Amino acid sequence: MGNQIIIAGKKTSLLALLALASCTTVQKQENTQQTQAAVEQKQAETNPLLTKWTGPYGGVPAFDKMNLADLKPAMEKAMAMNLAEIEAIANNPNPATFENTIAAMEAAGKELNRVFTYYGIWSSNVSTPEFREVQAELAPKISEFNSKISQNEKLFQRIKAVYENAQKNPLPEDQQRVVQLVYKGFAMEGADLSPEKKQRYAEINKELSSLYTDFSNNILADEEGYVVYLTKDQLGGLPESFVKAAAKAAADRGQEGKYAVTNTRSSMDQFLTYSDERELREKVWKNYYSRADNADENDNNENIQKILKLRNERVKLMGYDNYAEWRLQDRMAKTPEAAMDLMQAVWPAAVARAKEEVADMQKIANKTSKSKITIAPWDYRYYAEKVRQQKYDLNSDEVKQYLELGNLTDAIFFTAGELFNFKFTPVPEGSVPVFHEDVKVWEVTDKTTGEHIGLWYLDPFARQGKRSGAWATTYRAHTTFDGKNTVLSSNNSNFVKPAPGEPVLVSWDDAETFFHEFGHALHFLASNVKYPTLNSGVRDYTEFQSQLLERWLSTDKVINNYLKHYKTGEPMPKELVAKIKKASTFNQGFATTEFLASALMDMYFHMADPENLDPDKFERETLQKLGMPKEIVMRHRSPHFGHVFSGEGYATGYYGYLWADVLTSDAAEAFAEAPGGFYDAEVAARLVKYLFAPRNSMDPADAYRKFRGRDAKIDALMRDRGFPVPEPQSKK
Ligand SMILES: [Zn+2]
Repeated sequence: MGNQIIIAGKKTSLLALLALASCTTVQKQENTQQTQAAVEQKQAETNPLLTKWTGPYGGVPAFDKMNLADLKPAMEKAMAMNLAEIEAIANNPNPATFENTIAAMEAAGKELNRVFTYYGIWSSNVSTPEFREVQAELAPKISEFNSKISQNEKLFQRIKAVYENAQKNPLPEDQQRVVQLVYKGFAMEGADLSPEKKQRYAEINKELSSLYTDFSNNILADEEGYVVYLTKDQLGGLPESFVKAAAKAAADRGQEGKYAVTNTRSSMDQFLTYSDERELREKVWKNYYSRADNADENDNNENIQKILKLRNERVKLMGYDNYAEWRLQDRMAKTPEAAMDLMQAVWPAAVARAKEEVADMQKIANKTSKSKITIAPWDYRYYAEKVRQQKYDLNSDEVKQYLELGNLTDAIFFTAGELFNFKFTPVPEGSVPVFHEDVKVWEVTDKTTGEHIGLWYLDPFARQGKRSGAWATTYRAHTTFDGKNTVLSSNNSNFVKPAPGEPVLVSWDDAETFFHEFGHALHFLASNVKYPTLNSGVRDYTEFQSQLLERWLSTDKVINNYLKHYKTGEPMPKELVAKIKKASTFNQGFATTEFLASALMDMYFHMADPENLDPDKFERETLQKLGMPKEIVMRHRSPHFGHVFSGEGYATGYYGYLWADVLTSDAAEAFAEAPGGFYDAEVAARLVKYLFAPRNSMDPADAYRKFRGRDAKIDALMRDRGFPVPEPQSKK
């Protein structure tokens, strides 16, 4: 949830850090640069999107002055200014030092960071067709800007010099960490290669980027190309909401009077859960899990092969054995072996549980099915739903009565007060500009000292032009190296806006997500780092803090004081809470197995020798070796595993969800076992000190060890999923 966006705060300036113009401008006199900078400064002052943030709270974005016509010129100007700054750093005649190179890079790109804040709002909160046109025009320019920095030889040589000096004469701890992260960031992108290898590196990336596009387009084509149309007599078991949506989907496709099951996850998932028509379930299932695997022009098997080969060649240029080894070096797991160990430790229990689930389902099928059937993959969701109704039935409407948005907001503030000693106070009406009237802003202060920590913006409601889901982002991150920057954080959701005076009642899942995203905001607000780079996220670690915060939703204090019936004010009944907790282990055999099969496959693909690798055969044989239950298919089969092959965001990173879950369960048990439980002051202090405040200024594995006194164990995760805990206790 919100994973890309939440790191945007630093990501933008990391992009900024990376840039530099080509060698032709290198000869410029310093004077000329200064004059030019002055002129640019002047122009910048007239574009509201570039202007320094003014007003209270250390300055706030001028969301009331956003005008789309200013965006493109502001972006182009800001990139040019940033490139000029980087150019000046790269061409500094003095020997490279931390101050004149690394700190100077950290300080660069302020204008660009400001413009990116507005850009982010346009893109996520208030998008329009006009904005998307500007976005399409800017995309190649931003990518060019990035490569100008990442490929800047002079800049990299200075970074390398600082890095090598720091290896011999270590700098203060936080500076040492910044140097390490900046140097690694460049080196991992091939900055240290010889000119010939660099050229090949660039060619590979170009080839890969078009393969990634082909890969996604093929999936899309098969999602659009396979639609199952139902007639009225084939709707048995389907909920009314699904039937309505299916009727509209059919009408949209010129099949008025029929009902379309589209080839997308949400449509497939619901149809397989509820439809009584077994043959149609099989058809829908086959369509979905054969996407881009139909031996036609949309087949992705050859693309996978090419992608794996090119990735392998690229990391070999840099001296790595395989892609997984290269990718995981700056993750918390650090090595593919560590990630594999974790997955292998959970796998047998998941498969064993899946077998029990199948047995439960088979019993129901034997009783209820007209003809004798054996549970097949297209029966899993259908009979699992029948088991759920029998064993864990929860009335979601009843639960909602206790989850009112205003109360939930008070609940997260209460939690932040207990754990972080933060106090949230609404800012005076009109004192902080917002981009929409629904957005509300709170000031965050220290409960004891009253010290100003930052602002928290909440944009709660769905609207046209707003992306779906929920996410967190920052407009300004905490730093102190260049004067103190206080935090501007924000949470965004898509609750349906009620009629005036009506309450907003949300589902349990949505309430958890609300806590989750607030966890990201607290992670930003609690930051105590000095340099921007130290605010950056680590893929297999950055979801942990937010997942952990979800646990406070079901603590007694929150339930008794905030999960109150919107009419009667009665707290949620204990039996209802118990039912919700029990339901959380439902179907974990299926969920964990389908997830792990994909996560393991992702890793195996990237550790294998790609020469002559036949993806289809590789997938089949690997699953056979793993002992994949025949009733379950990988959550994402390889030919449509977009996380891994439509780009590099999650390549050898899919395990990260489980990794973060292990930390979450283990850390939650640290609270559960403490004398004060989830509100234990001593554990809370360690939580803030080691797991939130340092962000990326400490190695995540070290930070976790300091919090827990040991490495994370998988035992708590096994308990949370209702799996037996392995003996002897295994370590992650
Ligand atoms: Zn998240």
